Amino acid sequence: MPLFVDNSPPGQCIFCKLVAGEIPAARVYEDALTLAFMDIGQVNPGHVLVATKRHAATVLDLSPEEAAAVMHTAQRVARAAEQAFAPDGLMLAQFNGRAAGQTVFHYHMHVVPRHDDDGLGLSWRRQDPGAEALQGYAARLREALAAPPAGTA
Ligand code: AMP
Ligand code: ZN
Repeated sequence: MPLFVDNSPPGQCIFCKLVAGEIPAARVYEDALTLAFMDIGQVNPGHVLVATKRHAATVLDLSPEEAAAVMHTAQRVARAAEQAFAPDGLMLAQFNGRAAGQTVFHYHMHVVPRHDDDGLGLSWRRQDPGAEALQGYAARLREALAAPPAGTA
């Protein structure tokens, strides 16, 4: 169970306030569509969040331009973290919806420097459903991609 869940309405959420400069943040970088700042929780030193400036709850709510801008900024920040913190690896992670672990419902990507012995772990239970199931899942997705909901193509 997360310690903190931000259920504020759009425009009043904690990251909207942070983007607007109404609450303090250790800012790292910004462009027209994104803002990068230090995560207050720092799972490892150098842990940055890249948020959209516009309030959008999840990846499903981003424009293609915002999606591209987030990855562009995340890569810039990752390169800076590589230089500044000399990690053994870099983890980019982002969570969509409560079930996926999202606690602040304003879109953001985590950029986390990782170290061989940092002890962080994701619970990632692998399953092996077999080739037939994989083909079935792929067919469902191909069908959905061929007929996306209006306005999302
Ligand atoms: P999640 O929604 O699970 O991807 O995580 C939200 C992240 O936001 C957590 O890692 C928090 O530590 C971080 N966070 C919450 N409030 C602030 C804040 N005011 N400034 C910086 N980071 C924050
Ligand atoms: Zn917001």
